[in-house]
Amino acid sequence: MNEWGCVLAYLRERTSRESYKNWLEPVRFLEVDAGGCLRLAVPNKNAKTWLETEYLPSILAVSTQLKLSFHSVAVNVDGRTAPPAQHAFAFQPNGQRFNAKYTFDRFVVGSCNEFAHAAARAVADNPANVYNPLYLYAGVGMGKTHLMQAVGSSIHARSPQMKVIYVSAEEFMNDMVNSIRYDRMRTFHERFRTADVLLVDDIQTLGTRERTQEEFFHTFNTLHNNGKQIIISSDSAPNAIKGLVERLKSRFSWGLIADIQPPDLETKMAILGRKAEEADVELPSNVLNFMATHFNSNIRELEGALIRLMAVASISGTGITTAMARQSLKAALAENERTATIANIQQVVAAYYQLRAAQLRERTNTRAIAVPRQVAMYLCRKLTSASLPEIGRAFGGKHHTTVLHAIKKIADERRRDADLDTRINKLTDRFN
Ligand code: ADP
Ligand code: MG
Repeated sequence: MNEWGCVLAYLRERTSRESYKNWLEPVRFLEVDAGGCLRLAVPNKNAKTWLETEYLPSILAVSTQLKLSFHSVAVNVDGRTAPPAQHAFAFQPNGQRFNAKYTFDRFVVGSCNEFAHAAARAVADNPANVYNPLYLYAGVGMGKTHLMQAVGSSIHARSPQMKVIYVSAEEFMNDMVNSIRYDRMRTFHERFRTADVLLVDDIQTLGTRERTQEEFFHTFNTLHNNGKQIIISSDSAPNAIKGLVERLKSRFSWGLIADIQPPDLETKMAILGRKAEEADVELPSNVLNFMATHFNSNIRELEGALIRLMAVASISGTGITTAMARQSLKAALAENERTATIANIQQVVAAYYQLRAAQLRERTNTRAIAVPRQVAMYLCRKLTSASLPEIGRAFGGKHHTTVLHAIKKIADERRRDADLDTRINKLTDRFN
């Protein structure tokens, strides 16, 4: 494999499939010259600009990481380097792109999402007149896309003449990249800047994509100035998006910022109940309870579990029971047990040292317990976002300075004690 092949193999894992295919694959490797310069060829000037602005830092970083022989990159424009044959826009205007299931009717409202829901409803009823932009943020699987599409399809249903565009930020970027490559920027501008409602999903993917951010900035301004509605979703608050330029952060704060919190038990149960009802399946309340308690807050996973369960029930021709839920959800539960929570860490560490988890919470200071407890505290700090006082409370009400002391001690000792270091690495691996 030549040097570029190595770079490609590496970037392939770290770039979206579409970007990779559209953008990196067509690049031709020429040589690494005597001066340690990697020479590449691309089909046209725009492609060159794009490669240089968007990928150069990563290419150089890969070289360092993989200890390759080049330390600079030169990109030539070369007519013989053919662009890929087909190039499809991910984009489609209006209603077609909305998932028929992602409507307000099917969105269960609980205390975790009632604020975001109310804001979305208000925007759907009164586009560009209430909150503009509306910025929704939440963790994975919490219903951002659902809520956002509910707004879009609701507006579309009421006012079919309005141009409602839904794109992921990634699609926006790919569309722009293609437009640059094929000299179609005018069409691109026209497409987005004539929208009445623009919904951009997962805006955090634009972090560090400076050129795309600039383009989006202009799109945003045009639409906002013309009194058009913009809705944005993200995995975090504007200020917390790494690599997002200030001027976008400030614009995202012009309207309303609403977050969705992880669902509480009641909301999880309500959502599950609703999904079962929609599928016309009877879900006994003890099963509902079992699932809602044993799954964490990602609703997509919860839904996946329910679908599996319904499949098992339908194959075996019986009703759904807790025993069946337990059995068929083993794999998923094991997955959940691998997520790093204080409780899981205590379980795993206790088992490893042949103790019971409860012993880690006892008020003894015998060495057989004190060391595993310190290790567990250390892992809680490293693998969860829990604060020192929280960790202290979870270990039988220890003072936060005690927790801090434990963490420092273990951090210190693992540097000197190879055995301890290996044990900690092993334990850490259990949560990956
Ligand atoms: P996100 O975009 O935040 O990652 P999604 O909107 O894709 O999450 O939601 C994941 C799944 O969970 C979808 O199938 C969605 O219908 C469902 N879901 C999330 N929140 C709710 C809710 N409040 N009521 C009903 N279904 C929900
Ligand atoms: Mg989403």
